[in-house]
Formats: sequence, C-alpha cells, structure tokens
Amino acid sequence: MSANPIGEKFSAPVPQALGAREFMIERLILRDNTRELLRQNGQEEAIENDLITLSECECRMNVYDPTKCKCHACEGHFLLAQFYYDTEQYDKAWRWYSKIQHADLRAFYQLAVMCFEGEAPKDCTPKDAYQMMLEITSKEKDPHSFLIPYAEFHLGKAFFQGYGVEQSDEKAESWWLLAARDDRHEAVIEAQTALAFFYSRKNTDAYNLNKTLYWHNQASRNGSLESLGAMGAMNLFGIGTSKDINQAIDCLRQASERGNIYAIGLLVYAYYTRKLFTKATDLAKRVSALNDINELSRASCCLPQYICKGIAIASFILGRCLELGHGIKKDSNQAIMMYKKSFRYDPDACQLLQDYLTHEKI
Ligand SMILES: [Zn+2]
Repeated sequence: MSANPIGEKFSAPVPQALGAREFMIERLILRDNTRELLRQNGQEEAIENDLITLSECECRMNVYDPTKCKCHACEGHFLLAQFYYDTEQYDKAWRWYSKIQHADLRAFYQLAVMCFEGEAPKDCTPKDAYQMMLEITSKEKDPHSFLIPYAEFHLGKAFFQGYGVEQSDEKAESWWLLAARDDRHEAVIEAQTALAFFYSRKNTDAYNLNKTLYWHNQASRNGSLESLGAMGAMNLFGIGTSKDINQAIDCLRQASERGNIYAIGLLVYAYYTRKLFTKATDLAKRVSALNDINELSRASCCLPQYICKGIAIASFILGRCLELGHGIKKDSNQAIMMYKKSFRYDPDACQLLQDYLTHEKI
C-alpha cells in the first residue's frame, strides 16, 4: 500500500493563509507580555499609570527628543506602547511607538507589524508595510538588529500572500531562507516552519519532501510545536521518510505534552492503529471535551484550523471505540454524538476517517 492519501492529507497541507495572527510576532518580543500579566493581576489602570510615569523624561530638554534622551523615558515609551498594543488599544499604541520610531528599531518594527496586521491607521497601505520591513533589513548596525530576520520573515510572507507586492513564490522562499538561517542572528523558527510547509505543497515547482522534512526537523529542534506535530505525522504515515510508528509516537507525544492539539489527535489515531485502545480512548476523552479554540490557539500558538482537526480526529476515534466497545464500554448513542462532533469540527478530517473506515482500513 504505497499510495497514502490519508497520510498526505494529514501531514502536508500548507496553512492557507500562513498569516495574520497565526505566526504571532508579539510573542517574539517581550514574551511574557503585558497581557499575561494582566490576565493574572487585572490591574490595568495601575500598570498604565506606572508606565506613563516611566515615560516621563528627566533630561531637561525643552522639546522631547527621543534620540537625545539619556534617561529611562525612551524605554518607558516603548513599554507603554507595548502595553497599549497588548491590550489592543491600537490608536494609542501607534501614537506611542511613533514618537520613538527613529530612536528605537523595536518601535519601528512594531509599527511595521501593525501595518501588516491591519491595526495601523487607515492611511497606511500594505505597500507601506512592505517598505518599512524592507528598511529594517538594512539596519545591520542597530543595537536591535536581532529584528532583521523577523522583518525578513514578514517580507517572505508578503511575497507569499501578495500583500503590498506582486505575489512571488521565489521571493517568498528567498526571504524565508534568509530568516531561517542562524549564522548572523538567531533563526526565526516560524520561517523554518513556513519553509517546511512551502515545500510540502503538491503540484508546485517547489514541492520537495526532503526539504520539508529538513526544515520541520530544524524547527522542531528549535522548539516549534507545529513542526514537531508535522514530523510526527510524516513518520506516522511514512510521508517523505520511511514509516516509523515509534518515532511518530515519540514526536507526537512530545508535541502533545506541550499542548499541540493536532498532535494529540494524531497520537490517538496512532494508538488506535496499534490497537492500544485504552490509551487511545483515555486521551481522546480529554481532547473531545475541549471547545475553546481561540483560547487554545492563544495558549499553544497553534493554528485554529489544526486545533479543530485534532479535536475532530480524536472525537472520531473515540466514536469508533464507543461503537465497537474498544477500550471503553460500548455506547452507540455516545458514539453518534462523537461522530457528529468530529464532523462539526472538521468535515474533511471526519470524511477522510470515514472513507478509511468504509474501506475497513481501521
Ligand atoms: Zn530623558
């Protein structure tokens, strides 16, 4: 059985958008950001006031000039802007970042990100976003030059999506390759994952599963949950590499433990095909109880569509176990509910598993 449609569909689809908030940049700077702090403490006003105090310059200039300021005010500006950004007060964030955009490359970068994400004032165009990112890539001497590969990653995205520029797979690829290498700066993991998906698109010139495997491997070593899950899937179905169920279970388990719901779905599937029914049902029960996709996406930084796929797979397998009494007490009503849940979360994944079932493969 060399043709393996289910494996291909589960292991290699490129996320359609590759964009917007999916590869969230905000988590790349100030990882433990304000929002998390607020989530725990809820003292929004007090924090804002503290930051406003911090942004007051003590350098005795008549007119504040961030490039001349020698005190903490410039950092205060940045943190205050960041606070407004994290709390989604984009008008204010824009204003405060703008004040220091020539003194702090991070602020300029954030303005560019906001342009990309459509959080900028209305007169900012996608073209502006492109130009700003391009400008950042020339700041090799800046103290915050670590941002350059992130800008390169965005430029790759711009070309991939044709956002502010004419769509070009070749240019997307070359920007992502710059962002993904780690000789000058730390590599952008998202660029490595993006490249892996880029090479996994069938019927394109770039299609190359060796490259997909290489970049997923790099990215998962650097901590990408998405790539770890994808590696698991490739090993599980023998896509781009030989089938290795133990290796698959190893990758998927690691990814699952770190909250990748898609990986959990595949792990349930892997357990089921190995006839480890108790393991499969225990895990599936936990996943099929999940429902807050947005919160799960925020916490795991995984794509919502893949979280849905994970829940769909787990629900389907749980339904199958309930129907047959594998590893769990037979219950046909519950089984039907689980099949329905699977379909609701991802009709495609549900359909694939259904087809598989029809052909008595599982
Ligand atoms: Zn100052």
